[in-house]
Amino acid sequence: MVNLFRDLDPVRWRQLDHNPIMLLNEITPDQLAQRASEMVLYTRINQAHRRLKDYLSNHQTTWGAREAGVLGSKPVAYFSAEFGIHESVPIYSGGLGVLSGDHIKSASGLGVPLVAIGLFYDQGYFKQHLDSDGLQQEEYVNTKVENLAIEPARDAEGNSITIHIDTLDGQLLAKVWLMRIGRIPLYLLDCDVEGNRPEDRELTSRLYGGDVRTRIRQELVLGVGGVKALRALGIYPGVYHLNEGHSAFAPLEAIRELMHDDGHSFDDALREVAQHTVFTTHTPVPAGHDRFDSSLVEEHLGPLRQQLDISHEQLMGLGRVEPQNENESFCMTVIGLKLSRRANAVSSLHGHVSRRMWAHLWPWRVEEEVPIGHITNGVHVPSWLAYPMQSLYDKYLSVGWQQKMGDPEVWQNIYSVDPGELWETHNALKSRLLEFVRRRVSRQCRRRNEDEASVEAARNVLDPSALTIGFARRFATYKRADLFLSNIEKFAELVTDPHRPVQFIFSGKAHPADEPGKKLIQRIANLRHDPRFEGRIIFIEDYDINVGRHLTQGVDVWLNNPRRPLEASGTSGQKVVLNGGLNCSVLDGWWAEAFNGKNGFAIGHGTQHVDAETSDQRDAEELLRVLSEEVIPLFYDRDADGLPQQWIERMTVSIATLAARFSAHRMVMDYVQQSYLVAAGGLSSDMKMP
Ligand SMILES: *Cc1c(COP(=O)(O)O)cnc(C)c1O
Repeated sequence: MVNLFRDLDPVRWRQLDHNPIMLLNEITPDQLAQRASEMVLYTRINQAHRRLKDYLSNHQTTWGAREAGVLGSKPVAYFSAEFGIHESVPIYSGGLGVLSGDHIKSASGLGVPLVAIGLFYDQGYFKQHLDSDGLQQEEYVNTKVENLAIEPARDAEGNSITIHIDTLDGQLLAKVWLMRIGRIPLYLLDCDVEGNRPEDRELTSRLYGGDVRTRIRQELVLGVGGVKALRALGIYPGVYHLNEGHSAFAPLEAIRELMHDDGHSFDDALREVAQHTVFTTHTPVPAGHDRFDSSLVEEHLGPLRQQLDISHEQLMGLGRVEPQNENESFCMTVIGLKLSRRANAVSSLHGHVSRRMWAHLWPWRVEEEVPIGHITNGVHVPSWLAYPMQSLYDKYLSVGWQQKMGDPEVWQNIYSVDPGELWETHNALKSRLLEFVRRRVSRQCRRRNEDEASVEAARNVLDPSALTIGFARRFATYKRADLFLSNIEKFAELVTDPHRPVQFIFSGKAHPADEPGKKLIQRIANLRHDPRFEGRIIFIEDYDINVGRHLTQGVDVWLNNPRRPLEASGTSGQKVVLNGGLNCSVLDGWWAEAFNGKNGFAIGHGTQHVDAETSDQRDAEELLRVLSEEVIPLFYDRDADGLPQQWIERMTVSIATLAARFSAHRMVMDYVQQSYLVAAGGLSSDMKMP
């Protein structure tokens, strides 16, 4: 379906960041009719329309209708501060957003009754460019709502909705937008409304942009405002799912509603709401959790607190590990854990880390019995799977495999795929990636006003036959993007080997306030000035869903070397699996439970030294060893037909063992069966424990 837009005007499609509304706005109806007939698009348009209509009306026959029917009239309300839906919708910054987007897309595909709540950021996260010194420059671009498939949400009478939140400093207003993500409505709150003070009109314009006061105000709008919006829409959730601590004020408003409607006491209402609340934590580092001081909490929650009939100290206690400890600030993760009866981490290893990290909240329990389970993250297959691979799966997997993507059985037929065909498909994707990289790199040169020779050189970077390794993620220092540079001489030898060359494509943003992260980017981007690495180590600016899709679909190897155990899960490597690439990763996050010795490569043995520097040094050595002794030899070991048979075997095992397990369909099914149904109906608990 997406290809229809591309085929209308491939160049403009690219220039407009794949925004379908902007593309259609540029073309007059007459031109559109003419293009469609020239390109013989009518049949495809009609087919796509019919498929969409069928999809939207067939929800009675879905997995969700069968397995999650009780949620029907009381859906899951899924709260997240960001949603990565598509590159043209600027309401995400990275992994958390892409995960939320994939969650609701799979909920749609499975037919799980769910509504999603987020914030509408018209400027989103920043666009990244590097200057001539390789320093990150941040640019914020306004997205007009007219250019998005978004409409005002309406109540039962058809009126648009504005919610009001009282703070001690006056009222905050937010209007509510609706974006339809397949069968799932996504409601987005937006403070750019008349009646708000000028500074408040900008409150929701940027993601993770402001100071701590902006942060608590955004979180107030998301949590408290989100629950008010649901009420205004006439939606009565059976489950509140708080995806990360940003939305953890939501249960307070739900408690207020219950006290008001049913006359419950605060304690009774809290118990009742917590029973229906699910909390997912994503952060394995203590500093990564939002904390607010007492005065900010009182300023923003004071009026709500009075309606809850509790004291300021009681409220603060909900956000503290030790309720009476006045030196402790208010932590969003703590209140999330206290106001939910079901909590989970996002991988098995992260479950262990989280139980240890929060054990002091349950001092009477041994660590293994801390009630934080885990549901490992997964990716929405149709969003990340390249079309040529999908065609291959259509040919070899059983009919209807797309409805059963979370079922490992479905993927076993991959063993019957012809190795040559799999290799050819992968290489076609790899060429597509190289074309993309060359286009982007020459554009980057032109933007920096470099001379024609550099632009020309940029058009020829990378060697289609060389082993191509991708690395793209947030440039936070714990992800150690420069680990490979610990021994630059040895590394240069690998890269420049005339018979078995290796090349790297990097991409990623550093948070605007993260100077060490920006230095890392600079160091890697500037390798292009080193003759040994010229044309072989590439940095693609402005990592987003589009760049992520190209990279994960076309690389031979996906590299991930975070400092264990700081990667909660990671999902980019799961996208690579679907498209036939191999993971080479530290045994952290999802990879710690995914690697079986035959479906990719492991850096290290899943241990870490107490001293971070020692760990870094060991992992750096191990990384170069794995590359030179395992990855490179296997890739270049070719048979008479030029096929790397054992490599292809590994690709096959990777798909067979990982595609289903690390799909968002499996993830959402786990949430339904282990969390949502229990929270909705008080069924007995069977959350996966260690
Ligand atoms: C998939 C994805 C991520 C998450 O990847 P990690 O493995 O967590 O680094 C982040 N950003 C974008 C644009 C993605 O597509």
